[in-house]
Amino acid sequence: MSRKIVVAGNWKMNKTAAEAEALVKELVGLVSDVCPCKAEIVVCPPFTAIAAAVKAAKGSNIKVGAQNVHWEASGAYTGEISVSMLKELGVEYVITGHSERRQYFGETDHTVHLRTAAALAGGFKVMMCIGETLEERESNRTAEVLDRQLEGGLGGFTAADMENIILAYEPVWAIGTGKTATPEMAEETHRHIRGKVRAMFGDEVAGKIRIQYGGSMKPGNAAELLACPDIDGGLIGGTALKADSFAELVKNAVSGSGC
Ligand code: PEP
Repeated sequence: MSRKIVVAGNWKMNKTAAEAEALVKELVGLVSDVCPCKAEIVVCPPFTAIAAAVKAAKGSNIKVGAQNVHWEASGAYTGEISVSMLKELGVEYVITGHSERRQYFGETDHTVHLRTAAALAGGFKVMMCIGETLEERESNRTAEVLDRQLEGGLGGFTAADMENIILAYEPVWAIGTGKTATPEMAEETHRHIRGKVRAMFGDEVAGKIRIQYGGSMKPGNAAELLACPDIDGGLIGGTALKADSFAELVKNAVSGSGC
């Protein structure tokens, strides 16, 4: 089954509004020849830079996402952001469950589920992140950890909900470290994830769901990773912070996807 690739930049806590505007303006020119029929291109700035990014991306093939969302509609949740606040800004995608949220901010499979459910109800596409730590991989617990994250994050969703979910497999040991999973290792794990989705939701959902790889993806390794049958895009950290390197990665990813 052919799946449209989705390449998203997660800017984390980087870029002011002015810097975001400049980056997106430059990116618009660099990726204007990438057909939206081949790839979805998404940038996920920090909350304060979303409005500037949306404005700069207007009329282009670049979409804007947020890095988090809260499950309640409003209330006493200091430091959080709601679905309606993001919708008003023109956000179309939301990242949930990034390993940095799990590691530093107490995110659990349950809160990832709540955030993902709220984002779906709000009409966003969700990039839900999963991934094992080095210690978990070295003790042969990768499959067990991913299964737990998938069951906790996705349990109770319907096939219709799954249409708007993208999974991002990000081995924690590969994030920001320069260590990338080999294409063979990544493909084996993506195949496992698709199999788990099949067990939970059936063949059709498993065939359609897009699974991004994330973890030190670069222009130089994007094509070989995207050539793997179960890798349908990338979630990109460091390389997404410069328009030229992100654009090069997007183009190499599209060439590798066999579109
Ligand atoms: C990320 O944090 O989602 C990520 C993949 O980062 P990097 O590309 O820098 O490894």
